[in-house]
Amino acid sequence: MLCLRMVVLVALAAGCAHLPACPGRGGPRWSEWSSPHFRLLTDVEDDADAETLATQLEHFRAAIMAAAWRDVPEAGEPIEVAVLGSTSEADVFLPPHAEGLFFPYLGTGIVVVPATTRMERENVLKHEIVHALMRQLDLDRNAPLWFNEGMAMYLAMTSYEESSVEVTFGAPAPKALRLVEYRGLYPWSDLWTAPTNSNDHARLEATSWLFVHYLFNHERERFQRFQAGLASATDAKLLWARIFPDLATPEAFDRTLGRYLRGGAYAMYKARIPRPHFNFGTRPVPDAEVHALRALLCSMAKDHNDDAPALLQWELAQSLRQDPLNLRARMVERLFMRENVADLDTAQALTSKHPLAWQAWLVLAAAHGSRRDGKEFGVALERARALGFRGGAPTPTFPNVASPY
Ligand SMILES: [Zn+2]
Repeated sequence: MLCLRMVVLVALAAGCAHLPACPGRGGPRWSEWSSPHFRLLTDVEDDADAETLATQLEHFRAAIMAAAWRDVPEAGEPIEVAVLGSTSEADVFLPPHAEGLFFPYLGTGIVVVPATTRMERENVLKHEIVHALMRQLDLDRNAPLWFNEGMAMYLAMTSYEESSVEVTFGAPAPKALRLVEYRGLYPWSDLWTAPTNSNDHARLEATSWLFVHYLFNHERERFQRFQAGLASATDAKLLWARIFPDLATPEAFDRTLGRYLRGGAYAMYKARIPRPHFNFGTRPVPDAEVHALRALLCSMAKDHNDDAPALLQWELAQSLRQDPLNLRARMVERLFMRENVADLDTAQALTSKHPLAWQAWLVLAAAHGSRRDGKEFGVALERARALGFRGGAPTPTFPNVASPY
């Protein structure tokens, strides 16, 4: 499940995608900004810009948690966000027509956007952050695409007033509104399956935005129950029909949403939500980590960028040459690419160097698993789970990165 924010109207010409040099060869400097809920990795070299972005991530999260998920408990590890210095750099990794993306893997994931996306001005980054939060809060697991995309689009319109604690929710998403006005509602029956082309995807997103907007404004209580039920639902459409028996047919959907669309009153509401206070940790990102991050991002680009597999191998080799125990690089090598999985020495060295990282224990579990050391496999997997690993257990075909759950 790749969650894409599609460009609705204009497809930019492809072919100008390229990566700048790495920091070790005179390329842009990378920095990491750690806040309570995020880890921002960026080659935006202007520190003031990077700090603003990192601050806005926390502000945005505080606002939407208060609006949408007030009673949901705090979740584990920080969300990783890679903000790439230019669109041509981001285009190496993003699918055609995608402005940003949340790439889920191993029960976690990373948000990838170009730096032209500024939090307050554009909603691409916000949209992908909502996807990441839903993954972290386990809300997206059994959810239909319309729910995931509608929530992301609705909540991405959340904004703080310039210099107050007042937050506005529910502002109309202009592109979505235009699209659904001109092209009509996406059919109810198709809302529950993933479309195969980008036109339909854009239509589904636009209709989903309108649907979620309606539900937030007119059906908040039942919508909450639907959300709460998703985690344990085997069939989201059945769950829906149980909670919304009066809104579970194409006719009822067309009638209700059609009226909402023609009514044209998209109520916004405001709330006062204190901006969180917090400290940053910041550090330069070493060259080996930049290469490992690029390797990870290449692995999500394999389906649409023919150069990605070769680039992945190259980035991985650069990272491991400089730091043989780089956690991210070993994770990509062993868990994504299934190379050198049985090498126990390196896996054990990884857990010694990173004893609190579930990724290291998962690499060790995979090594034991491939050697059929059943007992040691179980112990390492337990350790990974205790440290926050939330994906499925390594199996002989583990993991299918494209569909991680
Ligand atoms: Zn999305």
